[in-house]
Amino acid sequence: MSLFDHVEFDQHEHVSYVCDPDSGLRAIIAIHNTHLGPAMGGTRYYPYQNDADALTDVLRLSRGMTYKSALARLPLGGGKSVIIGDPKTQKTPAQMRAFGRFLERLGGLYIAAEDSGTSVADMKIVREVTAHVSGCDDKQTLEGHTKSGDPSPATAYGCFLGIQAAVKHRLQRDDLNGLTVGIQGLGNVGYRLAEMLAEAGAHLVVTDINTEAVQRAVKELDAKAVGLDDIYRQPMDIFAPCALGATVNPHALEHLQASIIAGSANNQLDTAGTGRLVHARGVCYAPDYVINAGGIIDVCYEKQGNYNTDTVSEHIEGIYDTLMALFERSARENIATSDLADTMARERLQSVE
Ligand code: NAD
Repeated sequence: MSLFDHVEFDQHEHVSYVCDPDSGLRAIIAIHNTHLGPAMGGTRYYPYQNDADALTDVLRLSRGMTYKSALARLPLGGGKSVIIGDPKTQKTPAQMRAFGRFLERLGGLYIAAEDSGTSVADMKIVREVTAHVSGCDDKQTLEGHTKSGDPSPATAYGCFLGIQAAVKHRLQRDDLNGLTVGIQGLGNVGYRLAEMLAEAGAHLVVTDINTEAVQRAVKELDAKAVGLDDIYRQPMDIFAPCALGATVNPHALEHLQASIIAGSANNQLDTAGTGRLVHARGVCYAPDYVINAGGIIDVCYEKQGNYNTDTVSEHIEGIYDTLMALFERSARENIATSDLADTMARERLQSVE
């Protein structure tokens, strides 16, 4: 398989395939760009069908991290890692330690954190053998509180603000009262987001393969539960994809009535063409790596060791302004927000010496 000619290669600085036969670890670490600082990005543990799928995923995600950190104005580059396997049946502490030893060899060029299939507990194991990991330490805030390393609440907060920005731009409204939001995925981010939306007076339509999470949302948040594929057909103002990638695709668009798409999932669009289709239909799309930057902002401050809740919240609140600027420029220049976000991220990279 050719790496340099890969459609997602995009001038990655470094790509390593790592293997530890003793623990059964097989992983790929991709460092897209370190112009603004060390590459930071999560470690995904996923049962990829083959190495080619794992490579495509890690390259896409890694570039997304460069753009995410650039637009979030963080002193970080972009990278990502994937471990190939089923986290439910194959993940072991020995594997996480072996993975950590490979990170150590990279000398801090790449800093890992939890992602789909890995947890704060896994990262604590990685931490036993390397310091080049984040999102795992309990944070002693400057106000004297202890806060979990889990970045999901910060991501959910950023998404909530991003939805508010999209509502302001597309619906000219300052509040969410009475609007209907369809949430796909009630995991760490999706559930917290659902709580904030319900608190703000929104009606919720929800779906998840985890029926317990769905039942909890019905009971606690008065949400309407629908089937996995039915979510697209529901009358709603905002569609919030908070599960896995590529769920904004031509099939979904065939049915989707929402005028806003804004959620936490990475790689929401199946192709760049879908982003242009969304734009052509007048749907306001909040680019995934812009709206879901709350988590990376949170772990960046944790890594720097200067965690102050107010400062971190203020930084996350910048997501609202970044998205407003993006929406307004997209309307002015008639460019899909998904394409424009890439342009704006590259402009930011070029503007920093
Ligand atoms: P999670 O694994 O806790 O939650 C994902 C949820 O989606 C689970 O409840 C799962 O059952 C559900 N799901 C899976 N397939 C589904 C399907 N087909 N239909 C409906 N639901 C389905 O993950 P998370 O941490 O909440 O992250 C959610 C998304 O946001 C992921 O794409 C992740 O990469 C992205 N993200 C998360 C963070 C973070 O801080 N956790 C940061 C940035 C981006």
